[in-house]
Amino acid sequence: MAQYEPVESPDASTLFPYHDPTPPTLADVYAARRTINGLLPETPLVRADGLSAALDAEVYLKREDTLPTGAFKVRGGLALVAGLEDRFRDPGLIAASTGNHGGSVAYAADRFDVPATIVVPEDTTAAKVDRMERLGATVELHRGTYDQARERAEARARVEYLFCPVGGGSSAAGYAMTVGRLTDATVVGVQSERAPAVHRAWADGTLEPHDRVETFAEGIATRVPFALPVEVLRADLDEFLLVTDDALRRGVKTMFERERIVLEGACAASLAGARAMADEIAGSTVVLQVSGRNVDPDLFRELTE
Ligand SMILES: *Cc1c(COP(=O)(O)O)cnc(C)c1O
Repeated sequence: MAQYEPVESPDASTLFPYHDPTPPTLADVYAARRTINGLLPETPLVRADGLSAALDAEVYLKREDTLPTGAFKVRGGLALVAGLEDRFRDPGLIAASTGNHGGSVAYAADRFDVPATIVVPEDTTAAKVDRMERLGATVELHRGTYDQARERAEARARVEYLFCPVGGGSSAAGYAMTVGRLTDATVVGVQSERAPAVHRAWADGTLEPHDRVETFAEGIATRVPFALPVEVLRADLDEFLLVTDDALRRGVKTMFERERIVLEGACAASLAGARAMADEIAGSTVVLQVSGRNVDPDLFRELTE
């Protein structure tokens, strides 16, 4: 028997809350049938005369190929997406496929109006790629084998970097001890170099008050480090950056120009941090905490002019 070579797989970290790892029961199958019945035609079971003669048996064909997309997998795609909560539909679906699974996901996504990205190996049949694209999916050709495409899709589905502003460090501590501990994501705290008290506490282990709090971003203008968040950050935060106040100002402006979101200065630390690591994060999945929008209107006007 051929030896199966296991590939490196981050499966454990890609169990999402809607993945139930317990095997389905017969009741689950009936429930899925109720869902699918309203969405797909019943496939015929037809006697195959020629094959019956050839095999000297009563041969019937269960014509799953007559389903939309031309393959049985569309049942799974529809059952998945039909049962998905909005919070999982909104960010869209991503799947790896050599064609038919991707067709199924693309079909179900189209039916329920959910965006879908399908990562396929580059030698995927053109007709299968065409079908996924016609159904509105974004098809990403990936150099290499199916398993490499799958790893790419799994990496894309995972958060790889999370940036959050640090004032006293409570929100960064929260992310570090949850996202940081439970996933492979790199959690990055970002503070103004004009108020670097907690950065120094994190780096040097000192809780001494800092003499510098000159940042315009009052939400992160901390002078005295708090012991509890600092302890968590020292244990679990992956990286801690200092950024200039100019970078914070530019962050407020960019967020408004690109996303029409109003930020206060403190909040722009996430984006400023991501920009400081632009080369490293290129091509990755990145989360920026949008921590608050209580900006002074005059200041906002000035920053976005
Ligand atoms: C996926 C697929 C199979 C195999 O089905 P599994 O559930 O992956 O075992 C067989 N035939 C076609 C046409 C397929 O698309």
